[in-house]
Amino acid sequence: QAKIAGRNTIRFFDPGLQSVITTRLALEADLRRAMPLNEFRLYYQIQADDQGRITGAEVLIRWQHPKRGLVSPAVFIPLAEETGAIVEIGDWVMQMACEQLRAWQQHARMRHLELAVNVSAVQFHQQDFIDKVCRLMADYGEIAGLLKLELTESVMLDSAEEVIHKIQILKNLGLRFSMDDFGTGYSSLAYLKRLPLDQLKIDQSFVRDIANDPSAAVIIQTIIGMAQNLGLEVIAEGLETKEQLALLKQYGCRHYQGYLLGRPLPINEFDAVFAQANPGLAYE
Ligand code: C2E
Ligand code: MG
Ligand code: MG
Ligand code: MG
Repeated sequence: QAKIAGRNTIRFFDPGLQSVITTRLALEADLRRAMPLNEFRLYYQIQADDQGRITGAEVLIRWQHPKRGLVSPAVFIPLAEETGAIVEIGDWVMQMACEQLRAWQQHARMRHLELAVNVSAVQFHQQDFIDKVCRLMADYGEIAGLLKLELTESVMLDSAEEVIHKIQILKNLGLRFSMDDFGTGYSSLAYLKRLPLDQLKIDQSFVRDIANDPSAAVIIQTIIGMAQNLGLEVIAEGLETKEQLALLKQYGCRHYQGYLLGRPLPINEFDAVFAQANPGLAYE
């Protein structure tokens, strides 16, 4: 059919588009097999305070693909959200984080470490999400206070009552909540004020520009002021330079994450860095 169609009609066999679709379908099929084949890996990126004390880490997933190598979550998480695979992936990440926190309980110097886990809005809105986490916490109650769930502003597309209710149930078990990529999404102040959050995480795009874009600096100062007014902790992500660190400190941000402190690492390397850095990182 495509052959006889005129110049101005859609070409059904655009080879470029064809290859995009083929790649996507192949990736989708591979993604379905990734969990049973044990292809997901967890990396841990340091979070530290202004004294250089390592307070914990953010858990970041990667996909060890047999042919493509290490695939970024920026590529496969959106795909997993569309196919629903995110639910199984998310359950696994949460369980692994709990296991890791439990393992650290065996080491006096690591018992205080916290883990931040990313929870996709699709996952959060599953009707059984809260039940599942509650069941998990029945097994891991002793580390619940060390687990922080990172949500993005997209969870707020749901009714406020619903979101507040869900967060509150998990907070009652000891979990804490951080709003990831803060400042990039759509969230009204009125809504934000009602959410029982513990932390705002300043998006890395603002941190990247803090030293050379006055509007980024103003946004950061506004977020910090807001967090202080709401009684929330604030953490900056994507911290790469000492200059950025100095400004963040000056503006009153006391928690950081970024390449300046360390890249995301496999757990054995994270533990080694922690052992070496103990009692703290040297910023100077
Ligand atoms: P995110 O949660 O905002 O994580 C921060 C991202 O910034 C990570 O990318 C991290 O490696 C990167 N990063 C950290 N420090 C720096 C820095 O100094 N400079 C720069 N340029 N980048 C830095 P990553 O690991 O590729 O993850 C991308 C996104 O994928 C995450 O953004 C998160 O939204 C999502 N993601 C990762 N793991 C999971 C997961 O287990 N579940 C879900 N639902 N999403 C995840
Ligand atoms: Mg995050
Ligand atoms: Mg983020
Ligand atoms: Mg992000």
